[in-house]
Amino acid sequence: MKNIYGVTFSQLEDYFTNINDKKFRATQVYDWLYKKRVKSFDDMPNIKKEIREKLNSDFNFSDIKIIAENKGKDVIKFLFELNDGEKIEAVLMLHDYGNSLCVSSQVGCNMSCTFCESGRLKKVRNLETHEMVLQILKIEEYLNMRISHVVLMGIGEPFDNYDNVVKFISIINSGKGIDIGSRHITVSTCGVIPKIKEFMNLKSQVNLAISLHAPNDELRSRLMPINKAYPLKELIETLKEYIKMTNRRVTFEYILLNDVNDSKENAIELAKLIKGMNAYVNLIPYNETSHIEYKKSKKENIDIFYDTLKKNNINVTVRREFGSEVSAACGQLRANYMK
Ligand code: SAH
Repeated sequence: MKNIYGVTFSQLEDYFTNINDKKFRATQVYDWLYKKRVKSFDDMPNIKKEIREKLNSDFNFSDIKIIAENKGKDVIKFLFELNDGEKIEAVLMLHDYGNSLCVSSQVGCNMSCTFCESGRLKKVRNLETHEMVLQILKIEEYLNMRISHVVLMGIGEPFDNYDNVVKFISIINSGKGIDIGSRHITVSTCGVIPKIKEFMNLKSQVNLAISLHAPNDELRSRLMPINKAYPLKELIETLKEYIKMTNRRVTFEYILLNDVNDSKENAIELAKLIKGMNAYVNLIPYNETSHIEYKKSKKENIDIFYDTLKKNNINVTVRREFGSEVSAACGQLRANYMK
């Protein structure tokens, strides 16, 4: 039996066509699920009893549970327990422009970035589509508020769980359902090139962010083992193609690690690497973790790095620091909870 929150709108239309019912039933069901938020087919009175019985035998509403929360000034971190007892997290950030939820895509992560807490736990499994959708629904219900922006930057590598992530995006983006606009959705990847290409062919208008973190292969392979499989030159070429195909600007995330990747030379090299691309760089102050060999860059080095990129005509912003007080860096709440 499938979980109803993992079914895309077009899959649901096909379902009703297949059982010789009307296609528009999908609109009705989505309306009950996502606009009115009912949690049982029996609470959908405009759907005939025999159809409801059929739905009850084909789909379930099994849930995920909030088991801990950690509140900061404008950030709340949630720990969820899944049906099989696995735990994941999501981080809600309250911005002046809206409420943004950072969603996890896997239990653990196999990418082994050397600075990242999430990779301490190897991938246990992919999240099912409904387990991603429910992170949004549960938090909206719990806090009685709407989430306006979603970023796939929690635990896991979204493009290592490609099919479920694409379905997730389709469900939350559907105007018949949760209706979060494409430009309010961001998927972040460490650079799984074949999946970037697949994604590009969908011509999706969601934002694509690339975790770059280094301007050359030697350094990047040291920080991010994925770079050995998908090196920079190929990655940059793929992204140029992506920008051309989708007409969308891409974001480069660059964590600043003290004395590792934050020199002025690194900034110059980065500017050269991405020169002329429709892209911008988001500099991220490192959130210190149990990887004690990495420290946050000094303020003056962040400033020099930023100014150097600016002078070289690169669009750049420094990410506001969110959630260091609640251990909001990937994997930290889960790690603390497990201790
Ligand atoms: N696997 C995906 C998405 C998850 S990580 C990816 O690699 O993009 C989301 C972002 O947070 C990535 O850019 C990641 O490199 C960054 N990140 C990981 N640990 C961090 C930390 N301790 N401080 C700041 N950013 C961190």
